[in-house]
Amino acid sequence: MAETSSVTDGIHYHQHDVLIIGGGGAGMRAAIEAAPKASTAVITKLYPTRSHTGAAQGGMAAALANVEEDSNEWHTYDTVKGGDYLTDQDSAEILTREAIDAVYDLENMGLPFNRTPDGKIDQRRFGGHTRDHGKAPVRRACYAADRTGHMILQTLYQNCVKHGVEFFNEFYALDLVMTETPLGKRVAGVVAYELATGEIHVFQGKAVIFATGGFGKIYKTTSNAHTLTGDGVGIIWRKGLPLEDMEFYQFHPTGLAGLGILLTEGARGEGAILRNASGERFMERYAPTIKDLAPRDIVARSMVQEVLDGRGAGPNKDYVYLDCTHLGAEVLETKLPDITEFARTYLGVDPVVERVPVYPTAHYAMGGIPTNNDAEVLSDNETVIPGLYAAGECACVSVHGANRLGTNSLLDINVFGKRAGNNAVEYARTADFVDLPTDAADGVVKMLAQMREGTGTESVAEIRKALQETMDRNAQVFRTEETLQTALADIAKLRSRYPNVRIHDRGRRFNTDLLEAVELGFLLDLAEVVVVSAINRKESRGAHMRDDYPTRDDVNYMQHTMAYRTAAETGASQGIRLDWKPVRVTHYQPTERKY
Ligand SMILES: Cc1cc2nc3c(=O)[nH]c(=O)nc-3n(C[C@H](O)[C@H](O)[C@H](O)COP(=O)(O)OP(=O)(O)OC[C@H]3O[C@@H](n4cnc5c(N)ncnc54)[C@H](O)[C@@H]3O)c2cc1C
Repeated sequence: MAETSSVTDGIHYHQHDVLIIGGGGAGMRAAIEAAPKASTAVITKLYPTRSHTGAAQGGMAAALANVEEDSNEWHTYDTVKGGDYLTDQDSAEILTREAIDAVYDLENMGLPFNRTPDGKIDQRRFGGHTRDHGKAPVRRACYAADRTGHMILQTLYQNCVKHGVEFFNEFYALDLVMTETPLGKRVAGVVAYELATGEIHVFQGKAVIFATGGFGKIYKTTSNAHTLTGDGVGIIWRKGLPLEDMEFYQFHPTGLAGLGILLTEGARGEGAILRNASGERFMERYAPTIKDLAPRDIVARSMVQEVLDGRGAGPNKDYVYLDCTHLGAEVLETKLPDITEFARTYLGVDPVVERVPVYPTAHYAMGGIPTNNDAEVLSDNETVIPGLYAAGECACVSVHGANRLGTNSLLDINVFGKRAGNNAVEYARTADFVDLPTDAADGVVKMLAQMREGTGTESVAEIRKALQETMDRNAQVFRTEETLQTALADIAKLRSRYPNVRIHDRGRRFNTDLLEAVELGFLLDLAEVVVVSAINRKESRGAHMRDDYPTRDDVNYMQHTMAYRTAAETGASQGIRLDWKPVRVTHYQPTERKY
C-alpha cells in the first residue's frame, strides 16, 4: 500500500491510494470499504464525530418489514413520487434494494437500534413513506431514539479506527488537483490547509472521493450546522465541472419558529399533528390520505399557505403548531428525548403539555455534484472523470429528484458511500499515481496570502448575513421571477464586495477568521448557481415552487438542470451556462402527485 509523507519548501506532501474529503457518514462509510484494501486517508475540516450526520434525528429508511408488510418496490415508488418524478429511477431502485444490507451492515458494526418487543430492529413512520403505492403510511424508518445520526457516526468512526483509516482532522481541503494526461483529464490529488498550524498540505492520491456534505448556510433560517458551507461542491464547481439540480433545496416543515433548529419528522411519525392558530389539523385539507405524513415539500408549502392566508399563530401570526401533547410523556421522553429538550431549551415550551411553534427551515440540498450509480463524478451528462467520486449530500445521483423523502439521506450516505469506497479502491488497485504539477499548491497559497494580507474594509459577517437574508426572503418555499431576480442582484453586489473583505486575524494558528472568509466565497458561488438554476426552471416541481408558474410542466421540464461555469472569476457574476440532462424513467410514468 502506498503511503508516504515529506516536507519541501514548507509544504507537506503525502501520498495515499484513496483520499476521502469529509469525515461525515458518507466519507466514513466509504473509508470502511477502502481501508482494508488500500492506504486510505480521510481529510476532514471537522473532527469526524462532529460532522452534521451526527445531528440527524429521525431514522434511516429500509423496507425490512419488521413491524408490518413492506417492499423495496413500494419504497422505490415512494422515492420516485416523493421526488416529483425527477428521481432517476434506476438509482432509486439501487437505493431501496441495497437499503436492507446497509441497515444490517450498521447493525453488525454495533449500532444500537431501537428494538421491537421480540428483538427486531424497530421501525417508525415518516413523511411520504407508504404502503402499497400511497394507500397509507408505513413503518419503514429504522431508528435509535431521535439520535439515529449520532449513533451512525459513532459506529462508523469506531469501525474506521478498527480498519486503520488515517484521519487528518481539522484539515480544510481547498483545491482539487487535476492534470491533463495522454489519457485525458485525471485526478492527481488535493490541497488542504491545516487549521492548527496554518500549513499547506498536498495529498497525492490515485482516487479522490468528495463527501463534504451540504450547503445550508446559504440560508439564514436553517437546520444546518455552521460548517455546512458547500466547500466540496464549490471546489468541484471552480474546476469547471457541472452541478446538477441546484434549484431544488428542501425546506423541512418543522424548524423551531424563528430559529430553524430541527424537530424531526419522526415526531409526526409517532403521531404528532400540525395545527393552525384555531387548532385545525390543516393537513387534512392538503393531503387527505396521509395528512401530516405527506412529503416535506407539500407540508412546508401548506404551512406557509396557512400563514399567508392569515391562519398562523403567535403575535405576528407567522408560525403554526406541532402538537405532541396527546403522545404522552413516556413516548416523548423515550422515543423523542432530544427534540423534547430542544423545545424546552430554545423556546421554553414543554411539548408534553404545550404545542410547539414551528415553521419551515432550510434543510437539504437535493442537487450537487453529478455522479452515476457507481458514485463516479461526471463532467457532462455521461462522461466520467476516472478516479473522481462523490457521495452523500454533496452528490446528486439523483435518488432524491426534486424532493428528498425523510430518512432517505442517512440511507443514501450508507449505500452510495459504500459504493464510492468500493469503486475507488478498485480503481486505485490498477491505476498509477498521476504526477503532481510542481505548482500544485500555488493557487491556494496565493488565495490565502491575498486574503490574509489584504487591506480591504468589508466584513465577512456582514456579507454572509446579507446573503443569507436575501436567500431567506427571495429563494424560499415560494419563489417568483421577481424574487429570484432580486436575490440574483443582491448576490452580484455581495460578490463584488467579497474581494475586499478584511481578515482581522493575521496569524497562522487556528485562524478561523481566514477560513470563514474562504467558506463565504463558496457560499456566494453556490447561492448564485441555486438562483440562476431556479430562474431557468419555469415550472413548479417538488421543493421548487414558482408562484408565477404554479404547475408541473413535464413536456418542457422533466429534465435535470446541469449548470456549468463559463468564465473565470469576474467579480459580480461567474458566468453560468445551463443545460439539461434526461431523467431515467424505468417504471413509473409521471402522474398527478396526490397524497
Ligand atoms: C438536523 C438534521 C437532522 C437530520 N435528520 C435526518 C434523518 O433523520 N434522516 C435522514 O435520512 N437524514 C437526516 N438529515 C440529513 C442527513 O443527516 C445529511 O444529509 C447527511 O448526514 C449528510 O452526510 P454527509 O456525510 O454527506 O455529510 P456531513 O455529515 O455533513 O459531513 C461532511 C463532512 O465533510 C467535511 N468537510 C466539509 N468541507 C470540508 C473541507 N473543505 N475540507 C475537509 N473536509 C470538509 C466535514 O468535516 C464533515 O466531516 C438531517 C440533517 C440535519 C441537518
